[in-house]
Amino acid sequence: MDLDALNAAEKRALLERLLAGERQTKATALEDDRALQVLRTRLEVISHWSRLHPFFKAHEGTTRDTARIGGREFLSFSTYNYLGLSGDPRVSAAAKEAVDRYGTSCSASRITSGEKVLHGELERELAAWLGVDAAIVFVSGHATNVTAIGHLFGRRDLVLYDALAHNSVMQGAALAGARFRAFRHNDLAHLEALLEEHRADTVRALIVTEGVFSMDGDIPDLPGLIALKRRYGAYLMVDEAHSLGVLGVRGRGIQEHFGVAASDVDIWMGTLSKSLASCGGYIAGSSELVRYLKYTAPGFVYSVGLSPPNAAAALAALRILKDEPERVERLRRNSQVFLAEARRAGLDTHLARGGAIVPIVTGSSFRAVKLSEALYERGINVDPVISPAVEQDKARLRFFLTSSHDEDQVRAAVAAVAEAIAALPARVTITGEILSALPSRERASLPSGRITDPGLHYQRRARLVDEVRFDPRKEDENGVLLRQFFAALMEDPAGAPSLFADSAVVELPAPRSSPVRGRWHGRSAFHDYWRHLQRVRPSRITSVDYVLPHGDDAIVAGKRLVRGSSESFLYVLTLREQQVVRCEEILDGAAWGGEGEPGPEHDSVLVEHDDATGVRNAQSAREMYEIFVKKAELDRFVERCDQDVSWEVPGPSALPFTGRWQGPSGVMTFWRNLALIMDFHDLWLDAVVARGDDVYCVGGFGSTAIPTALAYSDPFLHVTRYRAGKLAHFREYFDARITLAAYRPELVE
Ligand code: PMP
Repeated sequence: MDLDALNAAEKRALLERLLAGERQTKATALEDDRALQVLRTRLEVISHWSRLHPFFKAHEGTTRDTARIGGREFLSFSTYNYLGLSGDPRVSAAAKEAVDRYGTSCSASRITSGEKVLHGELERELAAWLGVDAAIVFVSGHATNVTAIGHLFGRRDLVLYDALAHNSVMQGAALAGARFRAFRHNDLAHLEALLEEHRADTVRALIVTEGVFSMDGDIPDLPGLIALKRRYGAYLMVDEAHSLGVLGVRGRGIQEHFGVAASDVDIWMGTLSKSLASCGGYIAGSSELVRYLKYTAPGFVYSVGLSPPNAAAALAALRILKDEPERVERLRRNSQVFLAEARRAGLDTHLARGGAIVPIVTGSSFRAVKLSEALYERGINVDPVISPAVEQDKARLRFFLTSSHDEDQVRAAVAAVAEAIAALPARVTITGEILSALPSRERASLPSGRITDPGLHYQRRARLVDEVRFDPRKEDENGVLLRQFFAALMEDPAGAPSLFADSAVVELPAPRSSPVRGRWHGRSAFHDYWRHLQRVRPSRITSVDYVLPHGDDAIVAGKRLVRGSSESFLYVLTLREQQVVRCEEILDGAAWGGEGEPGPEHDSVLVEHDDATGVRNAQSAREMYEIFVKKAELDRFVERCDQDVSWEVPGPSALPFTGRWQGPSGVMTFWRNLALIMDFHDLWLDAVVARGDDVYCVGGFGSTAIPTALAYSDPFLHVTRYRAGKLAHFREYFDARITLAAYRPELVE
């Protein structure tokens, strides 16, 4: 380009183009940009689901049993104000008085000139109430865990925390640089196994649990934890954010509930922001521990002291809590009534035990958001908790009960939830009567015993991933023919009329060491293959779970019984003019054994593969489904993709999730397009078949968020390829007929 020949405007335009191009490359290279993109993607999906944005609703007053939002009064179940003390005139008066006396801020770290008389009073009374020597208060509950754990423990230590413990616990453990592991929720056997595994080569060990778990309202086996920590020489820390003021007759928390000594727990942690109507957190325990934190914990020493009104509010609330145990009793009663009524109404309360928190599990993020919206319209404010905070199929509304509620409010709320849930789009299994014959399968969640990874190996799948000629009508016809054929085969294998063309080829590849392999030709090829199979490895098909036509190809998968045990089978077929011209069995590794002579042409259908890579990739594939579908953790998902990942979903362009995308951001675009119309809360992965870097996955999605209010089960075959352990190619085959009927019914007659 001759720059001198350009005029000023042209030069400016060129410069702008160049700068824009540069900006683009820079922006997409930033790690952060991906995080922003993930959030934007998720928010777009949520606003598509609901007119009412479920987050950051501004309350116009105190939130107790009721809340005022947008000028309207709501019955509310969305606050940690368990004892109704935020907004109590005595607590407010104490805070105001503190402002008058001390001002609004401590204006310094307490170790220098930020210490107020109030701090000492609050800490002494808190320690005495909890039955320990001393306590220290921090300006935030979250920061309390992060700085205390992060500071007390180090690289050579071990931190084991309950899998449902609060985010701040994990952040603390990460900051400490300790070896940290989650033990399965409330699973002491798992905790013990981890202690066995890791305790010997670590210096100190910390076990962290919560008094009441904030997502489910259940509690840990504290005596069991105390016994374990003694046996393994570990410290025990309990986060009482949701149990102080909630558990025990007087609200002294989980120690009162179980009647254990305060000294049985090494580190008591709690927040001032819930029952204590303020803001901040505390650590309580021995005076040595507290002194060490006061002089050295960065989040204390290098942070301002708890503000005077906050310290005064917490102190006033603590005094009221001691004087008025009837509040704790009212809270308990409300919680129990809510739980009992919810169970009676058949609602899924998951692990709830009658603490102040009761989840109502909705089964999908979409349903949680819709249910929250429906209740809001009825004047009830309750917040949804959706993935990735919880797994996709564990999305929920989380009800916080308070002592301010009365029984009528509680009963009315449960009745409203039951009604609103019934009005949500139901999960209906579509049967053959509605849309020709559809695959049937039992629900199975991931990972499950039904996943088979025989390390299956097969060749010439290329045919399937090549050109796809898409024609829903033809696919539908092929699907019907194949279903009939396999149904007849199940009834009477020898008598099933052939669906195979004169030119048909049936192949059964296997390693040289196996006598199973062979290749057969002609109209009777399948029957010949079948007879051979019965000789070398007798089997009986027990179910045909998938008939998935795609272009000229089709997948048929199901279960068969071999020597008394069930295994998956998978056929890939090609049809022309309603006849099968090619069929290959994707062989289950277990099926490679057998007795007798191999079939004809067996030398040309051998498979070669790298078993170890295949097994690793199959495992990675399973994990990626978990991350993508169950947890919707997009950022973690794209981390496991190759930088140049190519993502293809061939199919009718009328569907917004068909197309071709490149790179991790392309994958996110795909996810958004899919999630806009489909809330995949459920996944079946029935067969994971790997040959080296090629992995084939057959399964199905469950979704309710479809415009027709018709829930359905959506089968898929994913043909993928890995490169150095990362997903490099993804191609999805689905039944376009089902998908069109669900999303674009107007296009299906
Ligand atoms: N621990 C638990 C168990 C919590 O639920 C929370 C917050 N809800 C915290 C710690 C952090 O407390 P804060 O909100 O006071 O920062």
